[in-house]
Amino acid sequence: MAIDPLRFRKVIGNFATGVTVLTTVTPVGVYGMTANAVTSLSLEPTLVLVCIDRQATTHDYVQRSKVFALNILSEAQQDLSRLFARPDSTPERALATVEYEPAASGSPILRGALAYLDCRVVAEYPGGDHTIFVGEVDEAAVVEGEAAPLIFFRGQYRSLRVLSAES
Ligand SMILES: Cc1cc2nc3c(=O)[nH]c(=O)nc-3n(C[C@H](O)[C@H](O)[C@H](O)COP(=O)(O)OP(=O)(O)OC[C@H]3O[C@@H](n4cnc5c(N)ncnc54)[C@H](O)[C@@H]3O)c2cc1C
Repeated sequence: MAIDPLRFRKVIGNFATGVTVLTTVTPVGVYGMTANAVTSLSLEPTLVLVCIDRQATTHDYVQRSKVFALNILSEAQQDLSRLFARPDSTPERALATVEYEPAASGSPILRGALAYLDCRVVAEYPGGDHTIFVGEVDEAAVVEGEAAPLIFFRGQYRSLRVLSAES
């Protein structure tokens, strides 16, 4: 029998991840959302996957545009992660206040991100209340090589320095 979703969330939260802001292009402009259900999938071809809630606005936008960029956040970008995760704020507005450059696909690359991957959607698979989007990576770069990553662990933002200090 399946376990309670809240218990699942509490337990899976022990799997520490980095944090990205996924961006894409839409008929009405650029758009973004915070995502950590992101995995490197294949080297040949170069593939990543991201799982997006079917009820999120971003889901429809990625399905239509067939492109997305993953902006890997630095520890200095916690505010951006919060901004792009808030259901009560419009990410269009957030992008209006955030500095970015368009990648080749048109998806925004956020100023100050550690690194980014610019992707084309090559497959979609159902995954419960999410869809698994597989993206082929057309362009990728490390931008802020000296910066530390933003970490998400047990429902909170952490830095690698704090984790090392605690161990
Ligand atoms: C660290 C972190 C990592 C995250 N990782 C992911 C991730 O990998 N994948 C992911 O999908 N989300 C993830 N989220 C959540 C995501 O960032 C937020 O849900 C964000 O608001 C989505 O933006 P949006 O504009 O696309 O969706 P919005 O349109 O703002 O919708 C936000 C959420 O509200 C709910 N909702 C919207 N419309 C309805 C409706 N009609 N009925 C019922 N519920 C509804 C859904 O749960 C939806 O996901 C993460 C959040 C954080 C803080």
